[in-house]
Amino acid sequence: MANDQIPAQQQQWPGTTKDMTPAPDHGESSYTGRDRLVGKKALITGGDSGIGRATAIAFAKEGADVAIVYLPEEQADAEETTKQVEAAGRTCVRVPADLRTQEAAEQAVRQAVEGLGGLDTVVSNAGFQMAHQSLEDFPDGQIERTFSTNVFATFWVAKAAVPHLRPGSTITITTSIQAFQPSQPLLDYAATKAALNNLTVNLAAELGPQGIRVNAVAPGPIWTPLIPTTFPGEKVEGFGSDTPLGRPGQPVEVATAYVYLASDEASYVSGTVLGVTGGKPVF
Ligand code: NAP
Repeated sequence: MANDQIPAQQQQWPGTTKDMTPAPDHGESSYTGRDRLVGKKALITGGDSGIGRATAIAFAKEGADVAIVYLPEEQADAEETTKQVEAAGRTCVRVPADLRTQEAAEQAVRQAVEGLGGLDTVVSNAGFQMAHQSLEDFPDGQIERTFSTNVFATFWVAKAAVPHLRPGSTITITTSIQAFQPSQPLLDYAATKAALNNLTVNLAAELGPQGIRVNAVAPGPIWTPLIPTTFPGEKVEGFGSDTPLGRPGQPVEVATAYVYLASDEASYVSGTVLGVTGGKPVF
């Protein structure tokens, strides 16, 4: 587990894992698989870094092959995730794509299905945020970027993936503590995460009769590249220390929630939001 206290630091979006201090824990050595997803084929958007990378590694250690979608400029992070998945003896299909158009989202799902030879589980996890002090500071185009990355892409990926899914398949959507406790500098982002909670409930209702479960994971403050790239350096200092557990979460500590929801252990769990927040409430 990395150090608990985070020092001040800043990077340009989209940022890289190697420039983070301390290095996040994605479960490379701390996660032990227990054959909970043997033979599954999983698509993970935003799978090159942070929560997505930890989920890819955990899924692989549990016996799943994975396809990861990431922005093309993040090839280095994607290659590191691939290395870790392959070290677990599983296949990693790399799908570089900017998911902000329906065409790209559909193409990404097609490539994942072809590369994996099918699809059982989808983790819609790609996300964008950028903090600003007031409404007038939000640059033109940000709200479109935030909504297209977080909400529209999730809708398009789900729509393209469902025809490939079968009874027992799952979709898990990354929402956020921000859907429950919105902070003003993230006002567009918080709204997208609330929308995703809502989408989760309706997708679960629609797909339940097909035996497909749909859930959400709502992380609290997790130490990933998103943080030093989207908050001012001084706000990063002590990140997560305001939680009841007094520290940020590591990506591996969130990955366990995705494993559970994708596994048969969660066979009667659908339409819910699982908080992984260090003690902050998600209701
Ligand atoms: P991260 O490592 O920066 O992950 C964000 C991912 O989204 C990256 O893989 C990024 O790809 C991908 N992405 C962004 N825009 C994209 C686009 N247009 N097309 C395709 N992929 C795109 O940070 P993270 O914290 O793990 O974030 C994962 C999810 O957790 C996000 O949905 C985020 O909102 C959510 N979350 C995070 C926290 C937290 O404290 N970290 C808390 C609550 C919720 P590249 O790496 O290629 O840029």
